[in-house]
Amino acid sequence: MSTETIEFQAEARQLLQLMIHSIYSSKDVFLRELISNSSDALDKVRMAAYQDKDLVADTSDLHISLSTDPAARTVTVADNGIGMTRQEVVDLIGTIAKSGTGELLAKLRQAREAGGSEQATADLIGQFGVGFYSSFMVADRVTMVTRKAGTEGGVQWESAGEGSYTVTDAPDAPQGTSVTLHLKPEDTEDALHDYSNPRTVREIVKRYSDFITWPIRMAPLTTPAAIDGEDADESAAPAEPEVINSRQALWARPQSEVSEEEYAEFYRHVSHDWQEPLETIRLSAEGTFEYQALLFLPRQAPMNLFYRDSARGVQLYVKRVFIMDDCEALIPEYLRFVKGVVDAHDLSLNISREILQQDRQIQLIRKRLVKKVLSTLKSMMTDESGTEKYDTFWTQFGRALKEGLLSDRDNQNAILEVCSFPSTHDAAKPTTLQAYLERMPEGQDAIYYATGESRAALEHSPHMEAFRAKGYEVLLLTDQVDEVWVDAVPAFEDKQFVSITRGEVDLGGEDVDADTQQGYDALLGRLTTDLADEVKAVRLSHRLTDSAVCLVGEAGDLTPTLEKMYRAMGQ
Ligand code: ADP
Ligand code: MG
Repeated sequence: MSTETIEFQAEARQLLQLMIHSIYSSKDVFLRELISNSSDALDKVRMAAYQDKDLVADTSDLHISLSTDPAARTVTVADNGIGMTRQEVVDLIGTIAKSGTGELLAKLRQAREAGGSEQATADLIGQFGVGFYSSFMVADRVTMVTRKAGTEGGVQWESAGEGSYTVTDAPDAPQGTSVTLHLKPEDTEDALHDYSNPRTVREIVKRYSDFITWPIRMAPLTTPAAIDGEDADESAAPAEPEVINSRQALWARPQSEVSEEEYAEFYRHVSHDWQEPLETIRLSAEGTFEYQALLFLPRQAPMNLFYRDSARGVQLYVKRVFIMDDCEALIPEYLRFVKGVVDAHDLSLNISREILQQDRQIQLIRKRLVKKVLSTLKSMMTDESGTEKYDTFWTQFGRALKEGLLSDRDNQNAILEVCSFPSTHDAAKPTTLQAYLERMPEGQDAIYYATGESRAALEHSPHMEAFRAKGYEVLLLTDQVDEVWVDAVPAFEDKQFVSITRGEVDLGGEDVDADTQQGYDALLGRLTTDLADEVKAVRLSHRLTDSAVCLVGEAGDLTPTLEKMYRAMGQ
């Protein structure tokens, strides 16, 4: 196969357009993205060689190398990592497989049409994480040469980011991937953004990628004359490549020595997010069973939080050696938004995903991680300097967290403690259960809730009348998961959860007296017969103050929304 010209997938084309005409003020981040990809590729080849002894891969000197050519105005990021086959290049670089791409593009279009700010666009892009494509913020042409470890003959990929790319055989390509950016003319004029200047590159690496554990080497200049302002002597001698990152695992350094910026950059590397983390969580255990964990809560939910294919779990290391991404065994599904690293010291290096699920150490670590995340949420919630962080967290991830009320019985109470729910108390702000309990008037002895599709519908429901009249606060639960957990969770602090639409609700009113009852007997009898196919019974009740009638479910019945859900699933 020789040169082929291939069209980018439609979504990829649109994202590239955004990159080319970007938008993002800190263009430096393209370097971080490329280095991050190289680092991942080195992790992968190391692991592949470890797991497959027959793999013909060279892992003797794994590293990243950077080189710049001011005369040609290029910068190159190369690694001798896992590399890609021709097909992988087409699949991974020519298309975007991420779920949520369609939604992202639709939101971007809306933002534009509504005259949204550049910042809003940039935020959306950042949330999505454009990775490799960020090269096109600074380059008008990108050339990538790659060879998959263990295979012969590589490929060269090239594109100007407009519409299509070419793939050509590259028979002599070394193992791994090398990406060369042909920089746009405008960026070289401003020294700070001249990415063909080795000094600029070095500074960016220090800032964004210092913690990368693989050596990042800066190759000697291809055009020595062009180091601006440095003495000529230094560039005249053939310089040895120099390692420019300190390579220290962040989680192994004393907490007091790591800056917020360093944590943020590390977070970006592990999460592929472009923003800062909302919260950083560290924990460690020493002794016979040693591990360290560095976890992050993101600021914003990813597009695919509620898709089945959304990756979950943290990275697993064993004594500083990367073992796997997305280690599901360490994080329960309802905490799938938690990012970070666990470094366990006493695991075997060739542990498989299947074995991990059963490993006792892993289970213990997982238990502690869950407790620590929940206790962190609790301190965010009760933070005296303000609950903005918690509020952000809840808006973004509350819906996922509530799944834990069903799946993690052991921590049910700890989860309830950090939940918030919309309620009739304050339309603008959801309430915690603790606050609900504190507001409960004398005589109320249950936590009342209503489930349904929208706040408005619930507020106007006739079921609400008696509660409003009594001054009892009602939780207004409108997420689908609410329908389910309310049946699984009996109580909070000894107060039962009671639906206002089901069964007999004892509001402490007087019984309907015999005379009144008699007066309605004929009517009730008639209604019961007429509606025999629709309802089980017609009763006189205290529930209503203004409305004439309302439908009430039996205590064990499905709620209307659940009924709809089950029907939709064909049950
Ligand atoms: P992400 O890193 O978030 O997956 P990117 O756009 O940065 O997204 O990269 C897309 C994919 O291309 C990567 O997941 C990886 O499979 C592949 N890739 C990119 N750079 C390299 C590289 N240097 N070596 C091997 N594969 C790479
Ligand atoms: Mg990437």
